[in-house]
Amino acid sequence: MSKRDYYEVLGVARDASQDEIKRAYRRLARQYHPDVNKDDPQAAEKFKEITEAYEVLSDPEKRRRYDQFGHEDPMQGMGAGAGAGASGFDGFGDFGSFSDIFDMFFGGGGRRGPQRGQDLEYELEVEFEEAAFGTDKEIQVPRTETCSHCGGSGARPGTRPETCPTCHGTGEQQTVVTTPFGRMINRRVCPACQGRGVRIPHPCPECGGKGRRRVRRTVRIHVPPGVDTGTRLRIPGGGELSPNGGPPGDLHIVVRVKPHEVFERDGIHVYVDVPLTFVQAALGDEIEVPTLDGKVKLRIPEGTQTGTSFRLRGKGIPKLGNPNQRGDEHVRVHVITPTRLTERQKQLLREFGNELGETPHEQARTFIERMKSAFLGDR
Ligand SMILES: [Zn+2]
Ligand SMILES: [Zn+2]
Repeated sequence: MSKRDYYEVLGVARDASQDEIKRAYRRLARQYHPDVNKDDPQAAEKFKEITEAYEVLSDPEKRRRYDQFGHEDPMQGMGAGAGAGASGFDGFGDFGSFSDIFDMFFGGGGRRGPQRGQDLEYELEVEFEEAAFGTDKEIQVPRTETCSHCGGSGARPGTRPETCPTCHGTGEQQTVVTTPFGRMINRRVCPACQGRGVRIPHPCPECGGKGRRRVRRTVRIHVPPGVDTGTRLRIPGGGELSPNGGPPGDLHIVVRVKPHEVFERDGIHVYVDVPLTFVQAALGDEIEVPTLDGKVKLRIPEGTQTGTSFRLRGKGIPKLGNPNQRGDEHVRVHVITPTRLTERQKQLLREFGNELGETPHEQARTFIERMKSAFLGDR
């Protein structure tokens, strides 16, 4: 099996800076991390390849030697951090989480204890009223769980995994190389078992030998009153299970509120547009307006202009975390100009206009003059 050039693997130039190498690795590691590519066995291989390349190129001494000797370096795997070429790999594959990998390579290491499972995110769409007053939901969240068919072993029930014949269960392969410097031990991840140390002759039909599978899980969620689009609810332990006995990750619910036919929302306040006839606007009236609590009566005073807003205190959205406190509803009225008038209605309006004693042109001019004096300060 011939190895690819490390620079080629990371897609960087031979004179790439440490920063460029780090960035390239980070990007590729995210892309090929086995946790992200559960169903792609090639990704794990790829991930190991880029990690190995990074390990060498990120270490100035190892990089210098690699530049000099290529893959044939007689010192490889020896010296400071002996066996580092291999130690970085054991337990990878299905086992490392992101944070773990990044701690290892960017935060500087230490041995790993139990890891927390990955967090999951789920977008939950709710109705306008559900967001306002709260609701209970059941959702289906897929996550990877231990395969119940094989109990996680990956072997068909009645059969068992065997020790890997290539590495005899160690998960790594050692080759002894005789060099001018002496006998060197070259260690690498066992290519037959990818470091697991076992071989599964009869894979479990349910999980294909992985020991884990995606399961749609029903999760009950209490959505409290007052949530809005973008509100995040955390379900502790609702995320992915830990790969090695640590606590599970969390499930994050991100709320999206569906638009309403009648109401608009801004924070805890609700806005609604209501039409008025010009007769209602001129003479005043009592009208019914919709609120989240049903219809209520609203007194429209005589001489109401279009665009006027009336406030209904406490008819808005309950405050998240303090639902006894509620926003207001703002009712904006729009005066509708009548259309399709009968001849008699037109006649009445003409008479009405004459009664006002001004032509429409004169009315408009008076209006403009009033506006001017209001803005320019006619004092
Ligand atoms: Zn199974
Ligand atoms: Zn093996």
